[in-house]
Amino acid sequence: MTTTNNMGTIFIISGPSGVGKTTIVERLLEAEPGLKFSVSLTTRDVRADDKPDGVKYHFVTNDEFAAHVAAEDFLEHAVYSSGSYGTLKSEVLPPREQGIDVVLDIEVQGMKQIKQLYPEAIAIFLLPPSFEVLEDRLRKRNDAQTENKLSEEKILQRLATARYEIKQQDLYDYKVVNGDLDDAVAQVVEIVRRHRRKV
Ligand code: 5GP
Repeated sequence: MTTTNNMGTIFIISGPSGVGKTTIVERLLEAEPGLKFSVSLTTRDVRADDKPDGVKYHFVTNDEFAAHVAAEDFLEHAVYSSGSYGTLKSEVLPPREQGIDVVLDIEVQGMKQIKQLYPEAIAIFLLPPSFEVLEDRLRKRNDAQTENKLSEEKILQRLATARYEIKQQDLYDYKVVNGDLDDAVAQVVEIVRRHRRKV
């Protein structure tokens, strides 16, 4: 498919917690030079394995987040289990206008808001091979943590959220199952290549 103007393409990547989204997005950015990752704002607590501020997230207070909402700085924002999350217009619109393709790692509510504004955005949903595999991965990842371990209640909450998210998969343009990581990365790269702005 060829784009009809010089605007960059917006790529949205969603998927339940534990599906391997962060790794797949990192591998996509390595494989496809020139893609810009949209750094989100979040109020959630910093975790031990988080990248430094400004790489994936800018970590902000509730007041700072609310000030950005009031100033209408967000393209989309949503409340998720662990806090508020939002995509700044400044992360997406200027690059897009310069013809740069932008990647958003956001959840389902954010995807809906972006699709309403930009129906031409390409939305990819990452799925686990089965719900049992997702639960197993989440529990193993949690067992391996030395700090900030999730309680059983929190794990069950995450699994309930994952179930809800998986039910929304048909709203996406593409679905990719992450059974084998290399295979899932290859599929995502292939989809992105197909829709990148043609120069
Ligand atoms: P985590 O706290 O595990 O890093 O992310 C929780 C969820 O928030 C993930 O599904 C992630 O895709 C989503 N998320 C991250 N940034 C944003 C954002 O700017 N907007 C929205 N709507 N969701 C986001």
